[in-house]
This record gives sequence, structure tokens and C-alpha cells, in this order.
Amino acid sequence: MNTIGILGGMSSAATGEYYKLINEKVKVIRGGYEIAELMICSVNFGNIERFVRTEDWDAAGKYLAEKAKNVENAGASCIFLATNTMHRVRDDIKAAISIPFIDIFETVSKEIKRQGKSRVGILGTYAVMTDNFYVDAYREFGIEIIAPDEAEKRKLDHIIFEEMTNHIFTESSKQYFKTAIEQLAEKGAEGVILGCTEIKMLIHQSDVPDIPLFDTTTLHCDVAAQICCGNMVL
Ligand code: GLU
Repeated sequence: MNTIGILGGMSSAATGEYYKLINEKVKVIRGGYEIAELMICSVNFGNIERFVRTEDWDAAGKYLAEKAKNVENAGASCIFLATNTMHRVRDDIKAAISIPFIDIFETVSKEIKRQGKSRVGILGTYAVMTDNFYVDAYREFGIEIIAPDEAEKRKLDHIIFEEMTNHIFTESSKQYFKTAIEQLAEKGAEGVILGCTEIKMLIHQSDVPDIPLFDTTTLHCDVAAQICCGNMVL
């Protein structure tokens, strides 16, 4: 089995989900009592929230690059960064390590293309729904991104930080996300990226059966399980 490394804590809710999903998927692949060999480096979300709020991407890059190096030195064969937003500093992380970095955008884009789609909506933090960095990251794979309007972005970001990263998932927030997904489809989205690693704990494909959802957490964890089991060459 390959030992994978996860940079987590962004948030603890999302990282718990990565741990659960990867182990479940490895068990399905291998059977019996087998689960993943992995190491999680869980960082302080207080620092991450501050970096995002102040847009201090330099400090974020340095902080996460050092943690990634520690994971490599501990023996991981590759690194998963368990957050969409912090992929903003993926180049700093990649420059600090010599093991593969499993990019969430590449993972998700492959599935969008596999389903024959090229114009999708995005839900995530304000940065993910707004900054050109994320638009460009998907454009690299020929995917066009449609974002909610300004007021919706603010409210969605508020729900992510104030509720979901604190392990709070409410029915009213679920309804808000559901409406946002439906509105993206009305704007022409062929599907919607759940571009924040906590969203899958709030809303599911069965809540919007007619609109394909691309859940970044599930897709990233699928790849993680395959790499763990040696089914994917690094
Ligand atoms: N987990 C979130 C994401 O996927 C947001 C928290 C963060 O800022 O890292 O973007």
C-alpha cells in the first residue's frame, strides 16, 4: 500500500470527512479489514481563516509549504491538500516538495470532462467563487465557470465559515445552497462544482436530482483511495 499524506484542518470538519471517505473506499477496493495507510498533518484553521480574510497568500504559502515538507519528510508518497481555497498557494507547496501534489482542480476537471460537460457553476468560499486564480485553474482544462451573484457569494461564504467549518449544518443553509445550485443551472450551468470540502456534508445529489453535482471532496478521496491501493501510478 502507498502511504499518502493529507494537509488538513481546513477545516477539521472537512478533514474528518476525508479520513472517513478514504478508509471506506479502500475497504471497498481491498475488502476485509483493510483501511488506508495515511498521515494527516492538521494545521491551525485560525491561521488559515486569517490568511483568507486578509488575502495574505504569501504567509499562507510559506505556512503550508513548511507543513507539506514535514509530511514528505515523514514518508508520504504524495500530498493531498484537503481544501479548494488553499490551492491558491499550490505553487508554493509544490516548490517545497519533491513528491507528487494531487491537484483538486485536475481531479475534478477530469470527471467534468468525462461526463462531457464544459460549462459548470461553482459554490465555495468567496475567494473560490470570485478570484481569477480559480477561473483560470479550470480554464486550463477547458472548463468555463459560472459563479453566483455578489450578494449570494457573501452569504454562501458566511455559511461556510460561520457554520460549516464549525461543524454546524442547518436545514435553512441547505435550502440556501439548494436554491443557489438551481439558479446556477438557470444561468446555463450543466452541473455544479461543490468547490468547498465541507459542502458535501450539507447537500447531496439526491436534493437536486436533475443537476449533476461535482463534489470535490468525494472525487479527491476517490483518487486518494486508488493511490493508497496502488491502482494509480504516481
Ligand atoms: N474547506 C474549504 C475549501 O475547500 C474552506 C476552508 C478554507 O479556507 O480552506 O475551500
